[in-house]
Amino acid sequence: MTHKAGFVNIFGNPNVGKSTLLNAVLGQKIVITTPKAQTTRHRILGILNDETHQIVFSDTPGIIEPKYELQKAMMHAAYSVFQDADVLLGVITPRQISFRNKDFFQKLKNTEAPLILAINKVDRSNNTELEETTETWQKIFPNACIIPISALEKFGLDVLQQEIKQRLPIAPPYYAKDTLTDKPERFFVNELIREKILLFYQKEIPYSVEVLTESFKDEETIIRISSVVVVERKTQKAILIGKNGEALKKMATQARLDLEKFFRKKVFIRLHIKVIKDWRKNNSSLKSFGYTN
Ligand code: GDP
Ligand code: MG
Repeated sequence: MTHKAGFVNIFGNPNVGKSTLLNAVLGQKIVITTPKAQTTRHRILGILNDETHQIVFSDTPGIIEPKYELQKAMMHAAYSVFQDADVLLGVITPRQISFRNKDFFQKLKNTEAPLILAINKVDRSNNTELEETTETWQKIFPNACIIPISALEKFGLDVLQQEIKQRLPIAPPYYAKDTLTDKPERFFVNELIREKILLFYQKEIPYSVEVLTESFKDEETIIRISSVVVVERKTQKAILIGKNGEALKKMATQARLDLEKFFRKKVFIRLHIKVIKDWRKNNSSLKSFGYTN
């Protein structure tokens, strides 16, 4: 029996539904998704296994024109899609006519890996729009396979999987066949807390925050977690905590409930808030948070 395996790298503008798509094809939430742009900061692998295939998806931060050091590091992760791709999976939306970053667009045109373009959010568009979008992109990428999907409503995902499988090279599995992701448990804790912050706080707060989990103790009946939320300024710390600590409590409770669902176990979580001035502009902070080497 031949086995096919390969790396399928997902890319696209912010907010087009890349992370929603990855969760939908895996059938489990491993990536956080929110209506806010730039929710995803790291490259995350999600692995889909069946008897004869292993698809190693990677979700990347959206394609942007970087404005500060963190965004540069995020764009670096976005470019990494070219390095090891067996299949490139671009996510676009109806009416979209290009990618946010011109360099990236150019590089894509010169890449030889097979390209699939998924037009996502078709639940929100009509046939005329879809036809026009397909035509526009087919002209730019004559060899691309273009498929309409809805990651949210799980429409078109079977066809997408078939098209991906057809384009995978014959290869043994890269990871154990029961592996779902390459990231450790602490990473999901950090990400789930960050998702709650993105959902509960406004303006610059979500973008000024980094979460680090200092301890993760998986005991018999409970997981005990201690995490640090890093902000850039004292004023941001005050906003996070809120009046009488209520905002922080609400956020931590929601995070705990999600973590209990994720780990299927009772969770106790303690959150500390720490100010590291301008961490997003500071290379050594970015390094310690795992954005650069
Ligand atoms: P990313 O930045 O590309 O990773 O986008 P996300 O996966 O975080 O999704 C951004 C927003 O688009 C979220 O609010 C999703 O619920 C929404 N979204 C994703 N896929 C679909 C879809 O197929 N249809 C609709 N209507 N919304 C979607
Ligand atoms: Mg994302």
